[in-house]
Amino acid sequence: MRRIFLWAARNAWLRDHLPRMRFMRRAVRRFMPGETMESALDAAAPLQAAGIGTMYTKLGENLESLAEADAVADHYIAVLDAIEARGLAGEISVKPTQLGLDIDEDRALAHLTRLAAHAATTDSYVWIDMEGSAYTDATLRLYERVRAVQPRTGICLQAYLRRTAVDIERLRPLDPAIRLVKGAYDEPARIAFRGKREVDASYLELAAAFLTEGRGRPIRLGLGTHDVALIEQIAMRVAAEGIGRDGFEIEMLYGIRTGEQFRLAREGYRVQTLIAYGDAWYPWYMRRLAERPANVTFALRSLLP
Ligand SMILES: Cc1cc2nc3c(=O)[nH]c(=O)nc-3n(C[C@H](O)[C@H](O)[C@H](O)COP(=O)(O)OP(=O)(O)OC[C@H]3O[C@@H](n4cnc5c(N)ncnc54)[C@H](O)[C@@H]3O)c2cc1C
Repeated sequence: MRRIFLWAARNAWLRDHLPRMRFMRRAVRRFMPGETMESALDAAAPLQAAGIGTMYTKLGENLESLAEADAVADHYIAVLDAIEARGLAGEISVKPTQLGLDIDEDRALAHLTRLAAHAATTDSYVWIDMEGSAYTDATLRLYERVRAVQPRTGICLQAYLRRTAVDIERLRPLDPAIRLVKGAYDEPARIAFRGKREVDASYLELAAAFLTEGRGRPIRLGLGTHDVALIEQIAMRVAAEGIGRDGFEIEMLYGIRTGEQFRLAREGYRVQTLIAYGDAWYPWYMRRLAERPANVTFALRSLLP
């Protein structure tokens, strides 16, 4: 099931046709409050009232022209301004291919550097998403170059990739900000753990080691997962090393395990919700369906009037 949805995420014909169907548009609303930046920012109010921070991402990937990438960068500048104007504890999360990485790495770097400089003046932060493994090296390079000049930047790393422990060691001299996720793409066994148990074990080890070895340093770790049992296991493991619930962050997607997000915030964890918006939601939504078969039932129910 997972592989079928990940295949569908990449299929051009489906990408052109499915999003036009009304039931698809209804179903995706579960994971995104709307297609506009305003709808995403509006969704922050109840979260902020509960002490939950927000991150914003405009959906879209693998752009075909640099002009599109320039427009995306300008859009994120406007998002940073809107976050500040509304007094939100908000950050942005950006896909490198949305900033033109496929076409011109230096242009993508220039955009990221500009966004990070603007984020620094608005008391915000820029996260770099991690895409499929074809982009891992280039994304790490981008992060190293931008972090050298703009500290308010973080990178997403994927626990399912066998290389990630080495990548964390490589970044360590930068005192990095890392969002650790399990990984959302279909990667071969040669480079990635494929079973849930192996991925979870890798996640636990990477998170615990990053926190304990970085103790006392200005690092930042976001646990980008809805796996509450795993989060609690990590919290227990690092508590034994003197690292409390405020020593890391929990990052979840809008619309997923919402009750748990509020509960964890009440219990003293630092929680952030990533809110996606935009009209290019199709591949992103297919990846959400791949993660959890129960979401497919939900999507099918949206076929009903
Ligand atoms: C803030 C954030 C940023 C992310 N950024 C990236 C990125 O840049 N690159 C990347 O490759 N991946 C990214 N991901 C996706 C990530 O890699 C996983 O695919 C996704 O989080 C699902 O795995 P899980 O960690 O929640 O664990 P799982 O083991 O898949 O799920 C644990 C439990 O969480 C719940 N759950 C998980 N997914 C769903 C869902 N879709 N709908 C309903 N319930 C669900 C279920 O109850 C499930 O039992 C991001 C995830 C988050 C939360």
